[in-house]
Amino acid sequence: MENKNSLLVDELKELKETIWFNPKYKNFAEVKETLPISYEDVLDAEERLNRFTSYIKIVFPSTMDGIIESPISKISNMKKRMEKNYNKKIYGNLILKRDDLLPIAGSIKARGGIYEVLKHAEELAIANELLKYEDDYSILAEDRFKEFFSNYTIQVGSTGNLGLSIGIMSAKLGFKVVVHMSSDARQWKKELLRSKGVKVVEYASDYSKAVEEGRKLSDVDPNSYFIDDENSKNLFLGYAVGGIRTKKQLEDMDIAVDEDHPLFVYLPCGVGGGPGGVAYGLKLMYGDDVQCFFAEPTHSPAMLLGLATGLHDKISVEDIGLDNKTAADGLAVGRPSSFVGKIMEETLSGAFTIDDERLYSFLADLVDEEDIYIEPSALAGFLGPIFVSDFYKNENATHLCWSTGGSLVPESIRKEYYAEGKNSRNK
Ligand SMILES: *Cc1c(COP(=O)(O)O)cnc(C)c1O
Repeated sequence: MENKNSLLVDELKELKETIWFNPKYKNFAEVKETLPISYEDVLDAEERLNRFTSYIKIVFPSTMDGIIESPISKISNMKKRMEKNYNKKIYGNLILKRDDLLPIAGSIKARGGIYEVLKHAEELAIANELLKYEDDYSILAEDRFKEFFSNYTIQVGSTGNLGLSIGIMSAKLGFKVVVHMSSDARQWKKELLRSKGVKVVEYASDYSKAVEEGRKLSDVDPNSYFIDDENSKNLFLGYAVGGIRTKKQLEDMDIAVDEDHPLFVYLPCGVGGGPGGVAYGLKLMYGDDVQCFFAEPTHSPAMLLGLATGLHDKISVEDIGLDNKTAADGLAVGRPSSFVGKIMEETLSGAFTIDDERLYSFLADLVDEEDIYIEPSALAGFLGPIFVSDFYKNENATHLCWSTGGSLVPESIRKEYYAEGKNSRNK
């Protein structure tokens, strides 16, 4: 064990792309009862989202029915391209979960971030006797609610996308919002937020520092609520709803998932809440028939390091000499959530790392083959099917890459990313 771990840490230090299989993995039925979150909690979260549909439908008509959900695409051309590029066979289907298309925030953060803002708004309105669970929540769009919420502030630390989802949703409800942005946050994300009336505070340092400062500033204001990406059960539950909803979507596509038809899911991972919540929801639905893997940049393998060493948030990528600098801004996290790490300890099948240059080449391939544009972070999972096909060689598998963001990226920046991808391909 010790030996294996030091080998792994050496590979991480050398920035080598590597896959780790979790030696502590257990049957989900065994683990489930020991976890601090239950299926009932996830169902409760789904019900809360359902209560808000009549409101969401009014303020974000692009959601159509007020449900914030994304489709799944079959990407068989991309599969062929990958098989050719890597000179390897990928056994089974290759599909893409399109959280890049999630309404309102254009990333997976539209699940957790928006859920937590809605829950907070509901609690405040109920405590002040402005709202009851049985009400039609479309009344929240009335001015008197905006006025009420304007007495309260919501704050969050973010590498970009969490700030977008929380900022957009909170501002719509009428809250004052402060987003504490790390240095990796893209300029266009800051500008978009400011255009919505959100206060953006910039830090020269990384994500952990932005969170720490945000938390401090929020704590001194009794009317301020801090959304804590490193420890939030609410964010996790919002993401988990995405996991449980996936089951129905796969059924509708006639994609079988059972003992003979395993589902492999590859989730880009930053601090861990997004992929952790989704993986947890999927495990609730499919147990051991789903195998979840987290994907991280070689410069920021925070969760992998935390899990493999068992140290969780007591170790950071900087501690092993890495710089936490990556083009995958959504994944530029040096220290993982211990709350999520502990839930994943016996639940996650494994994790792997991917080089930044390869993110860009997958990005360009996906545009060329499928006309699908997603942001660099969202491509981290694509190395998964390549790794997994080395050890799972049955045609009845399904490989699902979870795309985590992209639809809000401005056109000029899309072009830059695409050019970068073409370039890296020619190297
Ligand atoms: C935030 C984010 C992730 C990862 O989610 P975490 O909760 O930070 O692990 C992945 N991809 C994108 C595009 C993101 O914005």
